Amino acid sequence: MANITEAEIRKIVENILNGGAKASTANYTSTEYGGRKLIGIYSDMNEAIDAAEKGYRAVRSMTVEQREKIITEIRKLTIAEAPVMAEIGVAETGMGKVEHKKLKHILVAEKTPGTEDIVSEAKTGDNGLTLTEMAPFGVVGAITPSTNPSETVICNSIGMIAAGNGVVFNPHPNAICTSNYAVDLVNRASAAAGGPEVLVCSMDKPTMDSAAIMQSHPKIRLLVCTGGPGVVRAVLSSGKKAIGAGAGNPPVIVDDTADIRKAGKDIIDGCTFDNNLPCIAEKEVFAFANIADRLIDEMQKNGAYLITAEQAAALNKIVLVEKTNKAGKTVKIVSRDCVGRDADVLLAKIGVNVGKDIRCIICETDFMHDFVQHELMMPILPIVRVDNIEEAIDLAVKAEHGNRHTAHMHSKNIDHLSAFAKAVETTIFVKNAPSYAGIGFGGEGHTTFTIAGPTGEGITSARSFTRKRRCVMADNFRII
Ligand code: NAD
Repeated sequence: MANITEAEIRKIVENILNGGAKASTANYTSTEYGGRKLIGIYSDMNEAIDAAEKGYRAVRSMTVEQREKIITEIRKLTIAEAPVMAEIGVAETGMGKVEHKKLKHILVAEKTPGTEDIVSEAKTGDNGLTLTEMAPFGVVGAITPSTNPSETVICNSIGMIAAGNGVVFNPHPNAICTSNYAVDLVNRASAAAGGPEVLVCSMDKPTMDSAAIMQSHPKIRLLVCTGGPGVVRAVLSSGKKAIGAGAGNPPVIVDDTADIRKAGKDIIDGCTFDNNLPCIAEKEVFAFANIADRLIDEMQKNGAYLITAEQAAALNKIVLVEKTNKAGKTVKIVSRDCVGRDADVLLAKIGVNVGKDIRCIICETDFMHDFVQHELMMPILPIVRVDNIEEAIDLAVKAEHGNRHTAHMHSKNIDHLSAFAKAVETTIFVKNAPSYAGIGFGGEGHTTFTIAGPTGEGITSARSFTRKRRCVMADNFRII
């Protein structure tokens, strides 16, 4: 996008894939990296908001060209430092895969829209000219997840700055060092491009309390929340304008017209990308019974390990743990020690020892199995056999739990594809490709790591973080 040339991008990406900048994971905290103090990190949310407001004032006084220069610099630094953020991300959270996290950062750098996404509309008629412009909200309060921490901070920053806003982050506590590294990167990019030294801000120890201050602070005009159902509910009940990017549980249907060899590979590629951390990743499969064996076979050729029902039951006891909720009810929740872990590490927990070439654990289950019903966010993929398209759609829609987030299908039958897309009503629907095609990785369209299903902005971009303002010039300013 914008001012980086194709040749420059190719050079930087080659450099990264050949090693590139190496992370020194020995020496990082939420306020320092390699002995250098990170810029824009505060201990008090009120101070962070004040600093973000100064950032906003600075952005407001800039030309769009200056904003774009900062964004171009953010893109360059993100590509150059993708290996560092990928390594810290895995080291700090224990989740995901370094190689895939590098690719996610490059995707964010290359395909997050900048200022070109902000467009004005003009309406002329007998009564003159009316102009509608996309204006900034002011200071945005952004809550970010542990699953794509620095990716979300950078993606949000590019879009929010392009729209002319300031930003304060309350990142996930389990990924605070990685998130704050990204906040610092944005500020370094700003300074390098002639912008303010502190453009975006964050907390050294984000908590629920700091999130609560953010949600009720009068200077925060827009809340953008990327996370699970609890936090999305919290921001939507804040009384402020909020964008909620919540949980998914994407089903995949494979019918008997699909290219089964491709479907098996695509599903395993998508499901195992960053160990299934992306909210769009394949979480459960509904396969026509007459192709299920072939599909499983193709999955096994692509690094899947088929476990028995007994092994699945043993794994279930480890990856889902019982907890008493606020209402005193016992509920099963996903074990944080298993989210985003490698398939061989999960298998070792039930005494199955395999090599690193095993990328995914597959098993046949019934529809009510916990692996189908819970958003596991780890490379475990349950497969449910179905007899026909009606049954497949009925079960897949139920498994998606009304999140209206993402669904996938492998089929060449356009009636089946259309019927599922209509019934499931998801923000993203991917046909005959791995899930990540839905966020612009091997598929057309821009990328985002904030997919706002509940509030309807969809694949967010700069324009999602704007408010429309109208200016009317009555009876004049027409040229015809
Ligand atoms: P999480 O829900 O555990 O936490 C997200 C953030 O919210 C953290 O900063 C956390 O500290 C904070 N938080 C939690 N409850 C809060 C509350 N009541 N008030 C204020 N802040 C609160 O997120 P996670 O586990 O890191 O991310 C995984 C979840 O996020 C999954 O459900 C995934 O599907 C979803 N997700 C969605 C998108 C999307 O674009 N729709 C993207 C990434 C992740």
